[in-house]
Amino acid sequence: MTHTRNHPRWGAIVSAVIAAVCTALVAGLLIYDAVCVRAPAVQSGTAMGTVVTAKVWGPSGDQTARAVLDRLAALDKNCLSAYEGDSDIARINQNAGSSVKVSSYTAELLSHLIQAASQTDGAFDPTVGALVQLWDIGGPDERIPSASEIDGARGSVDWRQVQVHSDSVQIRKGQSLDTGAAGKGAACDEIRELLQTQNAESAVISVGGSILLYGKNPEGDPWSVGIRDPRGESSDRLGTLELGADLCISTSGDYERYFERDGIRYCHILDPRTGCPARSGLISVTVVSSSGVISDVLSTACFVLGYERSLPVLESFDNAQAVFVTDSREVYVTPGLADHFTLAAAGYTMGASS
Ligand code: AMP
Ligand code: MG
Repeated sequence: MTHTRNHPRWGAIVSAVIAAVCTALVAGLLIYDAVCVRAPAVQSGTAMGTVVTAKVWGPSGDQTARAVLDRLAALDKNCLSAYEGDSDIARINQNAGSSVKVSSYTAELLSHLIQAASQTDGAFDPTVGALVQLWDIGGPDERIPSASEIDGARGSVDWRQVQVHSDSVQIRKGQSLDTGAAGKGAACDEIRELLQTQNAESAVISVGGSILLYGKNPEGDPWSVGIRDPRGESSDRLGTLELGADLCISTSGDYERYFERDGIRYCHILDPRTGCPARSGLISVTVVSSSGVISDVLSTACFVLGYERSLPVLESFDNAQAVFVTDSREVYVTPGLADHFTLAAAGYTMGASS
């Protein structure tokens, strides 16, 4: 009797112990995940003429982070570098007027850029090379060119005259391609594919003014991306964007490369219509998109177009959102980012969005 009476009680005790152990294990794992998230592998260096940082979570993170830097260097050397070496773009420029064999990557990228030039009504134009070289802003020969020099170089800027086939590209004699406004974002797209094949869990890759957020933040929070204060030091923040997984963020600003004459700032972003540095009333534009190349193209195009003219252009792209900063220090945020942006810097106010 005693035996049969005690049997269910033992069962209950054993079940309770198992349940307690399981609960402790699950709680332990959750606490481990929340507090002891594995540190990412971090690699920094220079590639594509800018500072690159790769933070990678997951197995073989170190190896993957190193592969990111190598891939960026190879992309620049083989495809994108505009004026030096024998990259595809450099060879197209050296052989303007003739058809040049290129990799399918370069041909595909250029056809995207031509499409983007059309969609931004030429505010972004990859054929600005001659103007970029004429002004040489931030370079040893920077100066204000004469009106006739500007007219001459401006005459060569026309994306419609670029002929792209599956494995060859031809520009008109006198034209010169410059992928500076799109290359870092395009590189983020290329790195996304590399991270996928390497089975990275999450990563943050920063290539100059473009950032790739790959996967979710392992800490469980949204990713937090600071936007630079365009009139502060390089570490000063205008504000913060809290963002979800798999997005690219590119910023174009008049503080990156510029010179001043008689109180006027001449920055490295050129308006193809005037042939002169853009003066649209903006000092910085940040664009968020799932595509790196689109975020980079649009940050430059919106900087040229100004706030009002940028809005319909942004709407013509799939889910591209932006933060604009005007020269009167007003900050405008498009509706899709309104709940994700927090202004941090003193001296700026939030403008009422159109
Ligand atoms: P970003 O910093 O992405 O706005 O790119 C600026 C760089 O793109 C410049 O340094 C030039 O090499 C090139 N660039 C300047 N203006 C334009 C433009 N309107 N369209 C295309 N590329 C441009
Ligand atoms: Mg750009």
